[in-house]
Amino acid sequence: MKACYPTRIAVALALLGLTATVQAHDAAPGAYAQREPAPSRLEVEDFGLPIGFSVKKMDRRADPRKNFQRYAAGHWLDVARIPADALRISPLDQMAQRVEIQVGDVLDKAARSSATAPKGSPLQQVGDLYAAAMDEKRLSELGVEPLKPEFDRIDALQEARDVAAISARFTFVTDESLILAAGVAPDYQDRTRYAVYVTDGELGLANPAIYTSPEGARIRAAYEQSIADTLVIAGNSLEVARKTAAVVLAVETRIARLRQNPVEARDPAKRYARMSYADLKAMTPSFDWDAYFRASGVALPREVVAMESAAMRERDALLRELPLADQKAHMKWEFLRRSTPYLSPEFDRPALALTRAIYGDAVVQPARHKIVAGQLTRKIGQPLSRLYVEEYFSPQAKRETEAMVALVRAQLRGRIERNAWLAPETRARALDKLDRMQIAVGYPATWIDYSSVDVRPGDYFGSITRINEFRTRRNFAKLGEPVREDTFSDPRATLPIIVNAAYDSGRNGIDIPAAFLQPPMYDPKADPAVNYCAMGAVIGHELTHGFDSSGRLYDAVGNASNWWTATDEKHFVAEAGKLVRHADAYEVLPGLRANGALAVGENLADVGGLNLGHDALRAHLGKHPHENRRIDGLTQDQRCFIAWGQVWASKENEGYLRQVTATDPHPPGNYRALAPAQQVPAFYKAFGIRPGDPMWLAPSERVAIW
Ligand SMILES: [Zn+2]
Repeated sequence: MKACYPTRIAVALALLGLTATVQAHDAAPGAYAQREPAPSRLEVEDFGLPIGFSVKKMDRRADPRKNFQRYAAGHWLDVARIPADALRISPLDQMAQRVEIQVGDVLDKAARSSATAPKGSPLQQVGDLYAAAMDEKRLSELGVEPLKPEFDRIDALQEARDVAAISARFTFVTDESLILAAGVAPDYQDRTRYAVYVTDGELGLANPAIYTSPEGARIRAAYEQSIADTLVIAGNSLEVARKTAAVVLAVETRIARLRQNPVEARDPAKRYARMSYADLKAMTPSFDWDAYFRASGVALPREVVAMESAAMRERDALLRELPLADQKAHMKWEFLRRSTPYLSPEFDRPALALTRAIYGDAVVQPARHKIVAGQLTRKIGQPLSRLYVEEYFSPQAKRETEAMVALVRAQLRGRIERNAWLAPETRARALDKLDRMQIAVGYPATWIDYSSVDVRPGDYFGSITRINEFRTRRNFAKLGEPVREDTFSDPRATLPIIVNAAYDSGRNGIDIPAAFLQPPMYDPKADPAVNYCAMGAVIGHELTHGFDSSGRLYDAVGNASNWWTATDEKHFVAEAGKLVRHADAYEVLPGLRANGALAVGENLADVGGLNLGHDALRAHLGKHPHENRRIDGLTQDQRCFIAWGQVWASKENEGYLRQVTATDPHPPGNYRALAPAQQVPAFYKAFGIRPGDPMWLAPSERVAIW
């Protein structure tokens, strides 16, 4: 689960189900190139260096035994600059910039040809939506007029008990959870069937700690101000706006105290509570669940799975305790903040002010077309991706990546078979899980069919609302059907236009999106070391997620179940503990240490990934000995670790680093660029690193799991 670049206040979307995705890399937080006026003439800012592997990025005066990061990517680190409208720069962010330009071309072309495209086709829908969103003049003229029918419904509320029916309506029109809400996803304990999940609405700030910590005071104040400013733009008096902002902050602070922290939320035993429908009603007596399900057109469930039970109880208590006028003001705000992205661009102003409070004053507003591209990615990601794949993805990239997947998978199989510490029964289950892992490259075998959605020219908010209704109806319609999961459909992790790859423990599957198969991850012209220790290591990383601290708690079909013997589990936890301690000792900023417990899954996956990428490289060179040669004076093994170090080199904004360390299971880039190599024996051999060298980590401190 990831916070992307918060151009809006709502930095986290409510997510039902088990997409506890574990990502090699998240969608870059808004690092984009300008592309005015003609997209085709614009290029990614490359600092005079290739985006992919290059010895020119190295600092060859540095000693790899003393400072491997400088040796591998020192020159790049010297010349790279964080763009004004971004929070971080890395070769993967540059790759995301290139994809952004490609997607921009797709959008421009669609907008030019949508008038003649068949109604309901991806070209018509994407083109008309994009053109409507780019018509800023019309959006400004409309103001909050499109919200009036929903505001009227809220005004007509007679008592708190009626909130449930309105909440159901908001589930449809926003495709998000407000107040309390339900959704359908595969049952986490039986992946052959769907379950009804119930949860409370997401908070406006991604990090719950900000609501209560003394250090959060400055951001809290900025948040309250941004709420008030947004309400004023929406037509409220300053007095009403300020009063409502205070109510919203008070409500969210009560909820935030009871929310799970990011470490707890990764444990399925803590995150999901199965209960009977009667128990749900007893747990949240003031919320009329019967009315909620009736209004949703869903039969009353016999049982549900509750996420965030403590926060749900608190929402219910608020229904009893808050005066009705405050409830209405709060609900209007909840609806407004989810709607502003699709209304007048004036609403960008308070959102930007909040973003600056979190990430620093240097952040500038991204250009309109970039903001819109992000919105379309979230709302009609698959139709947009279809157009992208037709234009930019080659069958060769798909074929070669699939071959790499097979070779890397074989290395993990070998490691599990040879592993001395696993009991035979745990080993058999691990092999079964690996063999049944579904790995898909590029795009889905079947695209989601959006053709029935009425996307109208010149109607941005209305079209988005109809898309939301379609998605929610489609979600509820799954109940009672056999489980058929949508692959390549997560807008933050797996859409074919997302620079990322992701393992989903809930279905034991990996999606490797088309957009990821470009330099620096994969280059059909590169030597094997470069591809195996970038893309190959990412494949290994995703495979390892099936067996990391969180992934190992799910079985071969994705059910949450512990298939480990007690002894094996003890050994695993002890080994993983080494990695927790290693990260805890790493200084991200002066006085700020990395979050070893939160990042242990990702760190295990990086170690496994680099081990497996390197193993696969050796296997490949064994079959193709003529490719095992020095290039630029460097051996294949040396190039392998340098390629890894270059892919993960990054420069990050301080506010971003603090946010990532507190909430993100992915460690900062510069930790990723070095730490995993220190766990791999071949790294020491490749560069002659010996005990006493600053890069040396004693074998007893190295993690040895996969
Ligand atoms: Zn990962």
